[in-house]
Amino acid sequence: MTDILDNEKWDYEPFWSEAAKELSEEISSQEYETWFSNMTYNTSTENEIILSVPSSFYRDQVSQRFQKKIESRLYTLSGRNLKISFVIYPKRGKSKFTPEKSEKKTNLKIKSRAKHRQLNPLYTFERFIEGESNSFALNASLAISKNPGKAYNPCLIYGGVGLGKTHLLQAVGNDTYVSDPNLRVVYVTVETFTNEFIQSIKEKTGHRFKNKYRSADVLLIDDIQFLQGKVETQQEIFHTFNALYDANKQMVFSSDRPVSELKALPDRLINRFERGLNVDLQPPSYETRIAILNKKVEEKKFPIKNEIIELVCRNINSNVRDLEKALTKLVAYSQLINKEISTETANRELQEFFSKPEYLTVSIDSIQKVVADYFSLSPGELKGKKRTKNIAFPRQVAMYLSRTITEYTTTEVGLEFGGRDHTTVMYACQKIEERIKTDATLEPTIKLLIRKLKGNK
Ligand code: ADP
Ligand code: MG
Repeated sequence: MTDILDNEKWDYEPFWSEAAKELSEEISSQEYETWFSNMTYNTSTENEIILSVPSSFYRDQVSQRFQKKIESRLYTLSGRNLKISFVIYPKRGKSKFTPEKSEKKTNLKIKSRAKHRQLNPLYTFERFIEGESNSFALNASLAISKNPGKAYNPCLIYGGVGLGKTHLLQAVGNDTYVSDPNLRVVYVTVETFTNEFIQSIKEKTGHRFKNKYRSADVLLIDDIQFLQGKVETQQEIFHTFNALYDANKQMVFSSDRPVSELKALPDRLINRFERGLNVDLQPPSYETRIAILNKKVEEKKFPIKNEIIELVCRNINSNVRDLEKALTKLVAYSQLINKEISTETANRELQEFFSKPEYLTVSIDSIQKVVADYFSLSPGELKGKKRTKNIAFPRQVAMYLSRTITEYTTTEVGLEFGGRDHTTVMYACQKIEERIKTDATLEPTIKLLIRKLKGNK
């Protein structure tokens, strides 16, 4: 998201639009119509949004009534202390400037497409390469974008890490938003949803929170596996689902596993997710990997020999994110040495990627099972609250393995261990690393566990 800000220095219009929309939900429609319909976005400077208003009377009224509210919303939305100021423009006939309309105007002026503040503008359908492994999910997403709320509702896309779930969800968002910027497109990960929900309880702004999600035309919720065990967030999602479903609003979810494998979710929620269409993303075939990598090379505008592309695609077969990482490393390396990279160098530089792909499809679930089994515990105990030594140590081992042999981040690992904080995971990894140095039996144990996991994916 910082990318958007960097690319378009001082264009805070999306924040203004969003703040105005949020206010429109809070004040009466008459009040909104009176004061907001004659006010339009003019321009931005580093710390300021300049709005055009028809008169000084108008300016003073708006400033008195709404300036603080708008500025505090802008702060929440952008994380910056943006001030509002006004310029007076002569009234032009009948034309009214609503935030939506001014958005179109500005977009024409800067010749860019409508951008949505929660969406990565690079996650588009044009940049998504089709292959057998993703064709169903891609085509479902395309159909949804053409006909939100009508084609497949809800839709759930599931598949392992780095296979394009977030990309597709956001492509639906970008596409629907570009074709109609008046649509309320809301993208959120379960993690953010949960945090906002907790925050809204703390600040007693539950009403606003509900409004935000229940007034969406297109709601995209990423990584619903993290709903496991979060009872109140589940309830909130359940009610949001029902409200949107009844209103024929589009919902798309993603999960790293099929719904049937989601645990600690109430049946009524499982039932909702299974409604509509469930499509999966598989790891890409060799041919698809080549096509994807060629596309990424083209986007990076950096020449890489075919031979190297083939080398990378032969050796990395787990997911697209790893293909991208390998490419980034190659490009960085050849920029550093300032010449085209040889196949030998590529082979050497990418060893770290080549040696571990077989681990990458291991789930945290299976790590918990294998580790619990080894230490004669239950997976539930590893995820549970008890901190007695006989549980705490195996838990640290399981966290360490989750971090070192899978792609999950410390935050994700923490969530899978009963919603623990990412710092707990970092601490566990540090502890185990230290202990490997002093306890000669630990490393063989870790190796044994990894061997078990390889045979037990
Ligand atoms: P997930 O959410 O499933 O973990 P992402 O959507 O974050 O995966 O995808 C990881 C990276 O791989 C992203 O940069 C995405 O753009 C890229 N990617 C995944 N699938 C494709 C594809 N079919 N074509 C092009 N890029 C892809
Ligand atoms: Mg994702």
